Amino acid sequence: MANIFIKTFGCSLNNSDSEVMAGLLEKEGHDIVESAEKADLLVVNTCTVKGPAEMSFLRFLRNNKGKKTVVAGCIPQADQELKILEKYSLIGVNQLNNIGFIVEQTLKGNKVKLLKKEHNKRLNLPKIRKNSVIEIIPICEGCLGNCTYCKVKQARGNLFSYEKKAIIKQIRDSIKDNIKEVWLTSQDNGCYGLDINTNVIELLRDVVKIKGDFKIRFGMVNPNFALKYLDELIEIYKNKKMFNFLHIPVQSGNNRILKLMGRKYSVKDFKKIIKRFRSEIPDISISTDIICGFPSETEQEFLDSYNLIREIKPNAVNINMFWARSKTKAADMEQILSRDIKERTRKLTRLFHEIALEQNKKWVGWEGSVVVDEFGKNKTMIARNYAYKQVILKGNYNLGETVYVKIKKATKFDLRDF
Ligand code: SF4
Repeated sequence: MANIFIKTFGCSLNNSDSEVMAGLLEKEGHDIVESAEKADLLVVNTCTVKGPAEMSFLRFLRNNKGKKTVVAGCIPQADQELKILEKYSLIGVNQLNNIGFIVEQTLKGNKVKLLKKEHNKRLNLPKIRKNSVIEIIPICEGCLGNCTYCKVKQARGNLFSYEKKAIIKQIRDSIKDNIKEVWLTSQDNGCYGLDINTNVIELLRDVVKIKGDFKIRFGMVNPNFALKYLDELIEIYKNKKMFNFLHIPVQSGNNRILKLMGRKYSVKDFKKIIKRFRSEIPDISISTDIICGFPSETEQEFLDSYNLIREIKPNAVNINMFWARSKTKAADMEQILSRDIKERTRKLTRLFHEIALEQNKKWVGWEGSVVVDEFGKNKTMIARNYAYKQVILKGNYNLGETVYVKIKKATKFDLRDF
C-alpha cells in the first residue's frame, strides 16, 4: 500500500473525479496524503481548457521529477500523443474505476495507458470530499456543443447523461453526511437528459423535492438551453432549495464572433434571459464568461463585449484571454496580436472590478443567515448567503454552521460583517 497525493487542475467536474479516485484508492488500502513530498506516487488530474492550465501541469511535473506518476484528466484524454506523456501511466476521464489497477501497476514500475472512451459507473462511488460540506455531483459528461475554440470537447466528448435516480440517490446519501451544498455540474447542465428521454427541468423538479437542510448550486448552463427552458427554470429558481445563482457563459457581446465561436444563441437572446431572471428574481447573482481576443475580433467587436458587461452588470465574470488550443477550428483562424488580447483583457477586468464593487455595495445593511463553507485567510471563515454571495466572517466557526450576520462592508470580491 502507498502514500498517494492527488493534484487537481481545472473545473468542479475534475475536482469531483479526483474525489472519487481518492475514495477508490483509499478503499484499496492506500493513504491519500496532503503533499507531493510525502507521497510515493502522484496522480495528476489535468485540465486542457487553456494554455496556462497545461503550463501549470508541466511545471508540476518538472517540480516532481523522479516521482512515480499517473497522469489523469483532459490532457491525456485529448492529446495522448503528447511527447511528455510517453513517460507516464495515463488514465482517461471514463476510466476512474480502474485507478486502483493503474496505481498498482505503476508502483511496480509498469507503464499503463487506459484511455478508452466508454461509460463506466460514475455516480455513487466511494469518494473523499475536498470540502466536507459540499457535494459535487456531475449530472452528465460531454455536451451537445461544437464550439470552435473548445478543447474540452476533445476530452469529454458528446453528451452522456447519468440516470436521474442515480443522481437523486447520491444527493440523498450525501445529506446523511451533513453536507450543506449540492453542486450539480457538467460542461453544460442545459443539455442534461436529452439523450435519455428526459431533461434538466424534470431532474431539477425532483431534486428540489428532496428534504434536508441543503441548497443546490446549479452549474453552468449555455444560453441556448436557458432560453429553451426559461419559464420552467425561473419557476424552479424560486424554490428556496436553489441558490439564487445563475452561471450562464455568453463568451462575446458580438453576434459575428458568437457565430465564429459556434455558439447557438444571439446577444439579444442572452439579454432576454438576464432581463427575465432579474424581473422575477431581483437579487439573482449572475455569473458569466467572456473570451477576449477571439480570432479576427475587431476593436469594435471587443467593445460590444465591453458594453454588454457594462449594461448587464453581472455579479461575476470569468474573463479569459483567447488561447489557440491544438486541433480546434479556432486555432486555424486569423489570430490577433497577443498584446491586443492582453490589453482587451486588462480593460474588461478593470471595468468588471468597478461593477463588482458597485453591485456588492448594494448588499451593505443586509441582514440574514449564511452557511459557513470554507476556511478563509487570516483567521477568517467564508460563508454563503441564499444568493451565493461570499461573506467573510471573523472568528472561529464550524464548516456547515449557520450564522446570522449584518453586512457592514463590501469589497469587489466579497461582503463582510465587520
Ligand atoms: S458547450 Fe462548447 S465550450 Fe462547452 S464543453 Fe461543449 S463544446 Fe466546449
